[in-house]
Amino acid sequence: MPTQRFWEHKALDDMNEEEWEALCDGCGRCCLLKLEDIDTDKLFYTNVVCEYHDNRHCCCTQYSDRSLLVPDCIKVTPEVARTQTWLPDSCAYRLLAEGKPLFDWHPLLSGDPDSVHDAGISIRDRVISEEFVHSDELPEHLVHWFD
Ligand code: SF4
Ligand code: SF4
Repeated sequence: MPTQRFWEHKALDDMNEEEWEALCDGCGRCCLLKLEDIDTDKLFYTNVVCEYHDNRHCCCTQYSDRSLLVPDCIKVTPEVARTQTWLPDSCAYRLLAEGKPLFDWHPLLSGDPDSVHDAGISIRDRVISEEFVHSDELPEHLVHWFD
């Protein structure tokens, strides 16, 4: 078990693997397909999710092989957390990289892995797999997820 509230006194770069993995709140938002406006570089989220996402359990079914199977699946590292704005505002890695606290629905604070779902943050039961959506239809699936 990671030390209690380790994220409050450890830098992202100093976390061990167990601590790093525990930081993921399991929202699944990073697995959504996104569209980019080529004029502004702005990203827009859809309600379409990677084919390897298990919607029922809200997790990746190929976590250890994800980078091999999905070249666009970028492993989150401290550097990614500091620089990549495609990570949603609610992402624990991004929050800590920006010097912000975790939300109280984060399972590390609530002690309940379901709190991210109960708070309406996760994509569980709110998405459709990319297996069922042609890429030309993606613009029809744009969704405003975050505030
Ligand atoms: S957005 Fe961040 S916290 Fe949510 S599943 Fe992805 S890596 Fe984990
Ligand atoms: S491979 Fe897994 S972690 Fe990567 S985008 Fe797909 S479901 Fe998410």
